[in-house]
Amino acid sequence: MNRRGFIGKLSTVTAVAAAVNLEDYTKPTPKSFFIATWNNQEAVKTAQNYYSESLPLLDSIVKGINTVEDNPLDQSVGYGGRPDREGKVTLDACVMDHEGNAGSVVFLQNIKYAISLAHDVLKYTPHVILAGEGARQFALSRGYSETQMLTDLSKKQYETWLKEKEYKPIINIENHDTIGMLGLSDDGRLSGGCSTSGLSYKMHGRVGDSPIIGAGLYVDNEVGACVATGLGEKVLTSLSAFLVVEFIRQGLSPSAACKKALERIIQKEVAKPDFQVGLIAIDKKGGHGGYSIFNGFQYAHADQKNTSLYECDYFYKYE
Ligand code: ASP
Repeated sequence: MNRRGFIGKLSTVTAVAAAVNLEDYTKPTPKSFFIATWNNQEAVKTAQNYYSESLPLLDSIVKGINTVEDNPLDQSVGYGGRPDREGKVTLDACVMDHEGNAGSVVFLQNIKYAISLAHDVLKYTPHVILAGEGARQFALSRGYSETQMLTDLSKKQYETWLKEKEYKPIINIENHDTIGMLGLSDDGRLSGGCSTSGLSYKMHGRVGDSPIIGAGLYVDNEVGACVATGLGEKVLTSLSAFLVVEFIRQGLSPSAACKKALERIIQKEVAKPDFQVGLIAIDKKGGHGGYSIFNGFQYAHADQKNTSLYECDYFYKYE
């Protein structure tokens, strides 16, 4: 146990010991927390606040992710996301809950809250994934309004890109910030969600790892949960999120499990990787951690008391 975890445990014990009301002994000790890829501190704080106000765990995660989908300055998620090479903003998102239920939307256009729609797929359909026009029709049937997702800023950048049309599906730390969020409830349940506009200037129709259960997100309530960001093609072909949860099942800590799953990706490369992948995970006991291929990857954490940012360890330094 690290120092932070040890101190956390001590204060928990003190709080329980100081209580005299018998009822307090029968209530589960609050231990809920949320983590999210990148510096999404506002998002995890929002999720924690909603959860503290009694919203269910996954609904709270969806609310947290909505704040990023709403932000036009976050150009990798939702409204204002960078478009594909045809100038269209296409979104991918998914959710998974403590019972193993999942919902996902892929290649979604003109709808702002992809994560809410993925949650609706989970709640109101017998399916896991809805794609493209079918997903949009489903959104309209559920009362979502259509939105022009391309902002002036994203349009301007796209027009500049068009001049060179350089297609580089390589991710560095400046141009991606897909939000993946995981949460642990006070009674030990796990859930997660992930939302993105995917790689900038990708081929029209391209779907990444983020909406694919087992690749971009996986939750096993018996063990742990993981969510990914980075070059989706690499995450898809190694089922990274599922793999991390399996490594946690074998006894690894969340950080060690993320590191080992990234090793799988790196081992398949003939040369040193020139792309980023970052993974974050939590385990059933309340541990959390992350790891990335290159430096610069962070994750945000919020519990009932604090919101903070963690720097992840990595394999290589950007030169
Ligand atoms: N994983 C996302 C994708 O490949 C991109 C990202 O995380 O920035 O679509």
